[in-house]
Amino acid sequence: MAKLYFYYSAMNAGKSTRLLQSSFNYRERGMDTILYTFKFDDRFGDLKIASRIGLESGANTFDSGLNLFSDILSRRTAKTACIFIDEAQFLTKSHVHELCRVVDELDIPVLAFGLRSDFLGEPFEGSMYLLILADELIEVKTVCHCGKKAIMNARFDSNRKIMRSGEQIDIGGNEKYISLCRKHFRDGVIEGPAD
Ligand SMILES: [Zn+2]
Repeated sequence: MAKLYFYYSAMNAGKSTRLLQSSFNYRERGMDTILYTFKFDDRFGDLKIASRIGLESGANTFDSGLNLFSDILSRRTAKTACIFIDEAQFLTKSHVHELCRVVDELDIPVLAFGLRSDFLGEPFEGSMYLLILADELIEVKTVCHCGKKAIMNARFDSNRKIMRSGEQIDIGGNEKYISLCRKHFRDGVIEGPAD
């Protein structure tokens, strides 16, 4: 039986790398996969999923208006073996229920990869419902500057000072976000002492 998997982590843990490697493994064996990532804005049609170590692949996009069940139904073929979702924290509650139907009714496994919490330590809607509904929860681990497991995502300003307010979605990478352990997130210490 197919399952819904949620791979969750803080930022920069290698989620996209893992997604792309898993998709490659299916394709190498002659099976097809369908990839989705979040549509941040209207500048692009199809986007790609890129990992920090250089892997990339084209991907379909989802936004709040898309019915993922219907979209997957229209795209799948007899060879479709797995669905991959990057940036799964941006799924809506409805999307997560639609993915459950893909697993339960179409019997296709779905692997969703996302951040568990936002820069304020609050849950993302998609991740919250994935944590509730997924069959399997897998933590992808990364480390804080102190060496402890990083579970929080801090956003910092141009003075490298941790931000404690703002919009939940503000797309960025290493120039804006850093993953921290719980203590250093609470204390607002985004980097270790200089050598
Ligand atoms: Zn720490």
